[in-house]
Amino acid sequence: MKILSVNAGSSSLKFTLFEMPAGEELISGTFERIGINNSFYSIKLNGEKIKKEVELDNHKTAVKYLIDELLTNKIIVSLEELEGIGHRVLNGGEYNKSIIIDDEFLNVFPNYFELAPLHNPVNMVGIEVFKEYLPNTLMTAVFDTSFHQTMKKTEYLYATPYEWYENYGVRKYGYHGTSHRYVDLTIREHLGQNDLKVITCHLGNGSSITAINSKGEVVDTSMGFTPLVGLIMGTRTGDIDASIIPYIMKKENKTVDEVMNDLNKKSGFLGISGVSSDSRDIENGAEEGNELCDLTQKMAARRVANYVAMYNNLLEGSDVICFTAGIGENSALTRQMVIDNLKSLGVKIDPQLNDVRGKFRKISTEDSKIMVYIVPTNEELMIAKDTYELVTKE
Ligand code: AMP
Repeated sequence: MKILSVNAGSSSLKFTLFEMPAGEELISGTFERIGINNSFYSIKLNGEKIKKEVELDNHKTAVKYLIDELLTNKIIVSLEELEGIGHRVLNGGEYNKSIIIDDEFLNVFPNYFELAPLHNPVNMVGIEVFKEYLPNTLMTAVFDTSFHQTMKKTEYLYATPYEWYENYGVRKYGYHGTSHRYVDLTIREHLGQNDLKVITCHLGNGSSITAINSKGEVVDTSMGFTPLVGLIMGTRTGDIDASIIPYIMKKENKTVDEVMNDLNKKSGFLGISGVSSDSRDIENGAEEGNELCDLTQKMAARRVANYVAMYNNLLEGSDVICFTAGIGENSALTRQMVIDNLKSLGVKIDPQLNDVRGKFRKISTEDSKIMVYIVPTNEELMIAKDTYELVTKE
């Protein structure tokens, strides 16, 4: 059964087509600069990457090219072969699992636009465009937030006036849920043990950590109402004191939107180092003696370690710490620096085992009190799996 995973962004659209249930990747690609000049798309097929420069005035044009590629490369012979389309949706409010998209959802979902104004409306555009081309194909919404819905009020409420939660939905939602869930399921399956307590560290351009109890339920996660808080990220601040916002508005004569833009797009690695949001540039900078790059690395690693220690306490001890996403999978230095900050927990990694990129591997020593693994994430496959399950149940 062929299942398509889709991730629609404001000017991009990513897709992967899977043969399910095997999880075999048939073709994947990204459309970029949609609605902007110099648009293009790239596809990966049979291990080859091809880039095509085309005019993409909107998402509908992008999906037309996508369908053309599937047909001309004979990956499908007719559109009926696509039996399910899974859409990544950023914020699903209090939906606690992936769902089949029906009229009820399409009516309710606009109420959630305000919770993620940059993503949810554009996720809806993705859904609508595919519906135009494939009106009879089952589609699902796979939310970045739903895995975190097991959090209790003690964790998901802010100490703000309670009516803000009741009236406006002000609470922690958490994000990257599809990735944390994939990593958690993968490690449980690998160890053949279900009663594990797991701390998943998704460290990429956006970063978050999740504490998962022995029942596989999220107890807490580091992102909040929005993806701005928690860890220090590529361009996002992570945790800060909210009073900084009006203070900088006055000092720099800025609007709230301008300061929010600074906190989301000009902070984090980029803001501290002044060099780059990319951890590779930060690593190189530190190696060449740039003090601010060195400081960025130290601050970021310490923040990760502090969250791990806090979550270890919350879980009353943990069995496995997993590193995933661009930095977590590829940066041996970041992993080492994080673990170096966790001496009080007796966690140890073997530098030789840690010297690896992008591979599933146990990197902790035999005498480490908590096992440490690199678990490459695959959100697209998780979306396809959920979609396959929902489609086959219908
Ligand atoms: P993601 O958002 O998961 O795609 O991760 C993006 C981040 O992963 C960027 O900061 C990259 O610099 C980082 N990354 C990717 N490859 C490496 C690598 N080999 N070493 C260090 N960081 C890497």
